[in-house]
Amino acid sequence: MYLGGKVYCPLCETTFRTFLPFGSERRPQALCPRCHTLERHRLLWLYLQEQVKIKERPLMVLHMAPEPILQKRLKNLPNLHYRSADLTSPVAMDLVDIQALPYPTASFDLILCSHVLAHVPNDRQALQELRRVLTPTGQLLLQARLHSHATTVENPNAKTPQQRLKAYGQADRFRNYGHDFAQRVAVQGFKVKAVEYANSRTPEEQAWLGLGNHELIFVATHSAHGVA
Ligand SMILES: [Zn+2]
Repeated sequence: MYLGGKVYCPLCETTFRTFLPFGSERRPQALCPRCHTLERHRLLWLYLQEQVKIKERPLMVLHMAPEPILQKRLKNLPNLHYRSADLTSPVAMDLVDIQALPYPTASFDLILCSHVLAHVPNDRQALQELRRVLTPTGQLLLQARLHSHATTVENPNAKTPQQRLKAYGQADRFRNYGHDFAQRVAVQGFKVKAVEYANSRTPEEQAWLGLGNHELIFVATHSAHGVA
């Protein structure tokens, strides 16, 4: 029904007439009709191939809260040693709490953590754990929904799902990140670079690949001086 040649999903490698609208604000050209991935997943996959050289380098990879299609693509790469982990997801290889990871220190060269931290009760503890299991030269790639406010909104009185729904608009969130997200990551001992990778493409290519919402990729590496 959506077959056509107007847009292309690099994750399921299929062309369509259109991507589908998605989200509470109904973003157009967002959802892949076949593999159900969004703009941010396609963007991350392009970044992994082009910048991380994910298909070429031997890497120890940890994928938090794995998106099924991305997991499938990564699992099939023979050069990777791949683990995926989540608190509850049946798709994940390991059931873990991101605030207390069961892996040895400096186990992974690359960690993917997309739209996870807002759902973790203690995101600072989670970042400490991600830093611990990341090799000193490794990269942690983060994606997060950033709200329009400058400072992250966190209400310690919002303890129940119902109170969190009221405070954050979603019962399973523990905070709404603002534009201080990179700084919040950095103080846990990271150097953080915010990459607007959609801009590596022309507007026509962005439309072809469905990268319309220009989500940032935060590339975090160990800062030389450790925890600030
Ligand atoms: Zn797709």
